Amino acid sequence: MQAKKNIVVMGAGYGGITAALRLARLFHKHHDYQIHLIDRNPYHTLKTQLHEAAIRKTEVTIPIDRIIQRRNILFHLGEVTRIDSATQTIFMGSKSLSFHYLAIALGSQVNFHNIPGLRENSFPLQTLSDAQLIYDYITRLCARVVSESSENRRRDMLRFVIGGGGLSGVEFAAELAEHVVQCTHNSHVNPHEVEIIVVVSGSRVVPRMDESFSTRIYKKLIEKGIKIVSETKIVSRTADTVTLSSGKVLRTKTVIWAGGIRIQELARRSGMKIGQLGRIIVDTFLKVEGYPTIYAIGDNALAVNPCSKEAVPAAAQFALQQGRLAANNIYADIFGGMRKPYHPKLLGEVVGLGRHLAVGWFALPFFEKITFVGFLGSLLKAAVQGKHIFLLRKESGKWITY
Ligand SMILES: Cc1cc2nc3c(=O)[nH]c(=O)nc-3n(C[C@H](O)[C@H](O)[C@H](O)COP(=O)(O)OP(=O)(O)OC[C@H]3O[C@@H](n4cnc5c(N)ncnc54)[C@H](O)[C@@H]3O)c2cc1C
Repeated sequence: MQAKKNIVVMGAGYGGITAALRLARLFHKHHDYQIHLIDRNPYHTLKTQLHEAAIRKTEVTIPIDRIIQRRNILFHLGEVTRIDSATQTIFMGSKSLSFHYLAIALGSQVNFHNIPGLRENSFPLQTLSDAQLIYDYITRLCARVVSESSENRRRDMLRFVIGGGGLSGVEFAAELAEHVVQCTHNSHVNPHEVEIIVVVSGSRVVPRMDESFSTRIYKKLIEKGIKIVSETKIVSRTADTVTLSSGKVLRTKTVIWAGGIRIQELARRSGMKIGQLGRIIVDTFLKVEGYPTIYAIGDNALAVNPCSKEAVPAAAQFALQQGRLAANNIYADIFGGMRKPYHPKLLGEVVGLGRHLAVGWFALPFFEKITFVGFLGSLLKAAVQGKHIFLLRKESGKWITY
């Protein structure tokens, strides 16, 4: 019997899980092909909700076996360590898997930018375990503050510095602001002793959104008592202090680092061409330049918007679109169909600012937009998150039961 041809998807995040499910659908009658999915975790992480898990311990994972059950997908739990494009093999430590086609969707990881002391003395927020560590730490901190009799020491404990004013930084800051109200109330501590400071390197928060949204988000953060220090960078960190580029030194026990991402070294080590943030250079079909059987999607891919000629931002909605397109293009490559170029569709942008508040917009037909600030926004944000789970269910051809 002839061996099956392997189509391998590395990474079960937004891009990878979508690609694997779409491939399974497309190839369901082609029994000579096997779809493989690899991830270091046995679950799909709803990464855009990690800040909620870090503060409220919400559920942000879905077991992969539930998503893929009864599909033609073999799931491998493991850490991808090397891609050998010459022999079309990927390695997970000592194990290997050959591929006929490959989709790289390993997402991004935290970038500490070599800032002295930051890696050792701050919390990143990129994975479920990061969120769990933060949750645990803040819960303990809130419990310890009750028995701290010195106001100065309490203030140091309750001064939180968040590095980075992008989506994840501001969403986390807003959640934290709501949480510490509860924490000080329970500990009988004066809420004015709490300070939440977001350090932003540019002139505005969430700079990838239009300025009018940045301004609205800024105002809402200020209303929540959050301080924004703009045009400033964190230049060093010790266990008790943060030094800013302005020369100011802040005393704090807690720094949450949301100030940068980068892509794993894996692709660079495999000889693929790398662009900004270490993202893999892909052509208009999302194929890795110079590698006819390898596609890259999501945060890993340096996809370019053909209209603006700018790099498509690292965002969940683009990872989902690219996952679907890469699967369709792999199918077209194999069966001689027409491949489609990538045209990113910006369907909306929503920034959650706590449980009951969100700011953003959604696209409507005929190039119209609906904008919102407030409780309705938080309902719409929940609806977007629900829609991802709904689409996973639809793509997997059945309802996932929790
Ligand atoms: C706190 C936070 C909030 C965010 N909020 C938003 C938002 O509101 N809207 C938005 O659009 N975007 C948001 N983002 C960004 C968004 O989450 C990413 O752009 C998106 O997850 C990228 O999808 P992906 O498929 O490329 O990678 P990911 O979703 O990161 O998936 C990568 C997968 O690869 C696996 N993996 C990585 N390396 C290996 C390896 N070596 N071996 C095996 N498996 C591996 C990981 O376990 C993971 O499952 C947020 C990000 C964070 C951290």
